[in-house]
Amino acid sequence: MRMPSLLRRIDRSVRAKLLMLVLAPLLVGLPLLLGLAWAWGNQAYQRLLSFKIGSDLVTAHEYFDRVQQGVGLDLQALAASVALGRLLDVPGAPATADSLQGMLVARGLDFLHLLDRDGAPLASAGGRRLPAVARDRWAVVASAVAGSPRTAIELFAPDDLAVIDPALRRRAHLPLVDTPAAVPESRSVEDRGMVIHSAAPVFDGHGHLVAVLEGGVMVNGNLAIVDRINTIVYREGSLPLGSVGTATIFLDDTRIATNVRLFEGTRALGTRVSRAVREHVLEGGRIWQDTAFVVNDFYVSGYEPIEDSAGRRIGMLYVGFLEAPFRQARTLALGALFAVFVAISITGAVLSLRFARTLFRPIERMNAVIQRVGAGDVGARVGAIGSRDELGRLAGEFDRLLDTLAQKRAELQRWADELDSKVAERTAELAEANAILRRAQQQLVMSEKLAAIGELTAGVAHEINNPVAVIQGNLDVLDDVLGGHAEPVRREIRLIHEQADRIRQIVTKLLQFARPGEFAGYVEVVEINALLADCVVLTRHNIEKRRIELVERFAAVVRVEINRSELQQVLINLIVNAVQAMPDGGRLLLASEDWVEDGETRGATIRVRDSGQGIAREHLDRIFDPFFTTKKGSGTGLGLSISYTIVQRYGGRITVSSEPGAGAEFRVWLRREAAFDDAPNAPDFRARWTAGRDDASV
Ligand code: ADP
Repeated sequence: MRMPSLLRRIDRSVRAKLLMLVLAPLLVGLPLLLGLAWAWGNQAYQRLLSFKIGSDLVTAHEYFDRVQQGVGLDLQALAASVALGRLLDVPGAPATADSLQGMLVARGLDFLHLLDRDGAPLASAGGRRLPAVARDRWAVVASAVAGSPRTAIELFAPDDLAVIDPALRRRAHLPLVDTPAAVPESRSVEDRGMVIHSAAPVFDGHGHLVAVLEGGVMVNGNLAIVDRINTIVYREGSLPLGSVGTATIFLDDTRIATNVRLFEGTRALGTRVSRAVREHVLEGGRIWQDTAFVVNDFYVSGYEPIEDSAGRRIGMLYVGFLEAPFRQARTLALGALFAVFVAISITGAVLSLRFARTLFRPIERMNAVIQRVGAGDVGARVGAIGSRDELGRLAGEFDRLLDTLAQKRAELQRWADELDSKVAERTAELAEANAILRRAQQQLVMSEKLAAIGELTAGVAHEINNPVAVIQGNLDVLDDVLGGHAEPVRREIRLIHEQADRIRQIVTKLLQFARPGEFAGYVEVVEINALLADCVVLTRHNIEKRRIELVERFAAVVRVEINRSELQQVLINLIVNAVQAMPDGGRLLLASEDWVEDGETRGATIRVRDSGQGIAREHLDRIFDPFFTTKKGSGTGLGLSISYTIVQRYGGRITVSSEPGAGAEFRVWLRREAAFDDAPNAPDFRARWTAGRDDASV
């Protein structure tokens, strides 16, 4: 399943996990807390405002009641007054109207009538004439006629007002102002009057009802009442934050007395309440305690219905205060709360991140070290991380582990190296031992072979020598006896002599090979350059016959210890072999030089090099073997074998190098002081086995 990249990152990194762990309470908890604080704050704010407006409305209600009671009490006081008693004596006199007018002004009433005990008008303040019909259709008048004073709020039709006072009718006339949220209204004018209507019975000295006093105050446009309500409910400084208090009396849903301003000091008379409030209060008969849009702004508002004497809802009493400052204060408070939360979150996050860093830093460093070690940097370590908690100890242990690992690895490497060198050493020793063994084996085989051949040869040689001596002796006798008669066979006799002599020579050589000690001469100091010159004289005939170019380089200074004739035999053998290797001519080098080794002059060497056919690689190993020859018929295969044995006997040796087709070079190493070697006369093959192209060319 594909994880979103953020989740994948969190899943892979301890750092991200720690950050999540640290930040989760801040990122989730704090907004939650903030939301709760916001909701609770709002709720408390609403309840506070609702509670306040409730108590404001109670105060306004109380005051409005008192105003009504005041009107009633005024009427009762006038009814009981002596002045009124006097008026009753002459009810129709013009003075009565004046007196009533005086009382009206004194009590602040809008109208005052004196009625007879049936409720028919007797006189009216200001002398206005009322129709002569009983006014007991009004509940308060009926009550007074019945003997009880009563005060009630009544709705007066325009005509009712006109009957009482045309001025009142005019005062009640109010053009309706179009109000957006209100219930649509077809009328353009409100001309009914809301009146605090009161009536009190007038009794004579005997307690008999003699008349009724009817009076009232019209609420329409009565700004004194609303201003007073406003002053009482919203005393100077009782509203915080610059909010403004307002009070209004509605007739039906129209503002007929208000201190709500429309604009620039104009009171919002004639404007109407919103549909919501109308339905809630006027139609539903309930109290409204909530924010409402009043004329041009939101007000925290309280509305309650006003009922007339028959319990009909004819209007509303309203108080309220501007909400905006409270709202601002609330927004400010919540904003401050939010800011504090954000500040706490940020500070918390920063502190948590700092703290988290001390946790994930060691882990990250360990991870980096693991990767470096993986990449081959075995010296990488976490190092001191300055924390003494479990992570710090873990990092320390980790470093120690790496140290141990490095140490073990170094030890392993050392062991491996030691093992390698030991194996190489043992292998070399084994090879050496093998070679020695092989040489020893070869020498053993050779010695045994030579010993057997020596025995055989010695026996055979003696057996042959005697018959040959007999043949030669008898041949001489034959020659003497025949004398001149032998002349025809002279050549044959000579040939028999020669061949018998050759037999004797071969036998002598065989004996020399088989019993070298018997043939060894005495040792003398030999000047090898002179000896070489003698050898050239002896072999010149052969050399010249084959048109061979002879090159002499006699440079040896040192003289060597050896038997002179034996050395001569060796050199002549080598020269003869070289000449035989060049049947069609060539070049023969005879050279001598001092043998200097490790800065010490050990003796002299003699080189015999030819430009003949050379020696085949497979023969090179065997040319010093007795009886090895490639000269079928003419060779004995003993020359080199005997030569080697002679030289070796004086502590010297012979080496050969050859390039097949390009000649061969034999080199005789002779000691200045002979070192006698009594070992069996087996040649050392290793010593004389060298081959090289340069050496081979003459
Ligand atoms: P022989 O000469 O009687 O064969 P040697 O012992 O003198 O016996 O020589 C052995 C063999 O070594 C020869 O048969 C020949 O094959 C080889 N040999 C010796 N000297 C030379 C040379 N200068 N060039 C080539 N081959 C040689």
